[in-house]
Amino acid sequence: IPAFDGHDILPETRAFLAQSHRLLIDGAWVDGSDVLTTRDPATGLPLCEVAIGGADEIDRAVAAARRAFDGPWSRLTAAERTALLHRFARAIEANGGLLAELDILDNGMPRFIAELTVANAVEMVDYYAGAILRIEGTTTAPPRHVSAEGEALTYTLREPVGVAGLIVPWNVPFSTFLLKAAPALAAGCTIVVKPSEETPLSALLMGQLLLDSGFPPGVVNIVNGYGAAAGARLAEHPDVDKISFTGSTATGRRIVQAATGNLKKVSLELGGKSAVVVLADADLDRAIPGVAMATFFLQGQNCMAGTRIFAADAIHDRLVEGLAAFARGLTLGHGLDPATTQGPIISDAQAAKVMGYIDAGRAAGASLVTGGVRLDRPGNFIPPTIFTDATPDMSIVREEIFGPVMTVQRLTTDDLDAIARLANDSPFGLSGSVWTTSLSAAHKLATRIRSGHVSINTHGAVGTNIPFGGYGQSGWGREFGREGIDAYLETKAVTARL
Ligand code: NAD
Repeated sequence: IPAFDGHDILPETRAFLAQSHRLLIDGAWVDGSDVLTTRDPATGLPLCEVAIGGADEIDRAVAAARRAFDGPWSRLTAAERTALLHRFARAIEANGGLLAELDILDNGMPRFIAELTVANAVEMVDYYAGAILRIEGTTTAPPRHVSAEGEALTYTLREPVGVAGLIVPWNVPFSTFLLKAAPALAAGCTIVVKPSEETPLSALLMGQLLLDSGFPPGVVNIVNGYGAAAGARLAEHPDVDKISFTGSTATGRRIVQAATGNLKKVSLELGGKSAVVVLADADLDRAIPGVAMATFFLQGQNCMAGTRIFAADAIHDRLVEGLAAFARGLTLGHGLDPATTQGPIISDAQAAKVMGYIDAGRAAGASLVTGGVRLDRPGNFIPPTIFTDATPDMSIVREEIFGPVMTVQRLTTDDLDAIARLANDSPFGLSGSVWTTSLSAAHKLATRIRSGHVSINTHGAVGTNIPFGGYGQSGWGREFGREGIDAYLETKAVTARL
């Protein structure tokens, strides 16, 4: 086990890394068909080896999930499912330090983000445990021809969709795992989870905690592996009823194509290129740190990242100056270091992709204000990067970079419809924010911006109970809140001639 840039880790993290890591299928840890080495992106050094599976392991996991769905799991009462999920939430709480460190080491996220996601995760699992007792149908008038025959009754039942395949990305690993697993289990589905090959570790701890909490064999199966093998098989599998996918828009398209065989239900949380509009009357003392972190939170590896900044002419220069000073003040380093506010990019390949966009921005004529170079040190560090004089046709403005790259465009109009048209000039529609002291302008823009989520005088204000998802090419469906559990439920109508 390497030294983590001189930072210590918990004894339980050290013990976890020293274990052998296998696949969870049918309630048992089993061997895979191969292994992969997962690395610390802050040092480039290996963390440990984990077993991975391909199509065969996915087939076994789906078969186990089907048996559990048809068997013991379907006989559990709602109260028993609630108790299991609350017990799981307590297990997450008890293992919060280990969980945070696994995502810090595997993903590179700064400690303050990992700790925030642990707290949110506990809240989310408790929320969906409680939501089980709020799964409700309706009663309605029976059809005319049946009521004509005499007394009758029509009601609806909400039933689990069945075996759900959950495909998870690397940017917030255990948080995204739970964002799918908690509502799926609450709904009564059984699950097969395919974590990202970049961040396989925290999912394995989730599996152990779910087993320890008493979930019956086969209800939760976890198959680490590559997207093209394990992920693709899960997406096309004829006995999977539902796929919930978070990841890139390109992979989302492949998932949809793969799902056509058995027309399984599909939810997609995809990419973004969210607009951040700063009007002339914005409170810049608040807007500067808020707008900076809209882009740079999690190194910009954040689907909600607000990377297209539109600045009113009157405040453009002051805003840019403030953003640049804030960006230069961020501390790059290992996520374990409490002083770190920005960690590394997930992989060498992703860092190269980000640098490619930065070079393209320069070549297209955007002005680099700060950042723009890859640091000459181990790990994949790119400092916060700001471009001004960006125009809507540039690839740094049009495409999701998934790195710490901000583009600022100067607004030459104060007409809110015209500003909304600029903000909406994107195939994506996931998030966005408006910064102003005008109540009226704030809500008018919030209404006109075409995206699933808009924040006013803050950015990315998502929460357990707040539905989240995309317009346009940012996805299908919603996660979080009541809609999060609806995504795993079917509605059945029953009519009884009494
Ligand atoms: P990715 O699409 O490369 O991979 C996501 C997951 O899909 C991984 O587990 C991967 O192994 C798997 N996968 C890859 N190819 C597959 C295939 N052919 N069939 C089935 N599965 C396959 O995305 P990523 O690079 O891991 O994550 C970054 C992307 O995720 C960004 O585009 C980001 O915007 C998006 N994201 C979106 C949200 C959201 O809520 N909308 C949240 C987080 C991340």
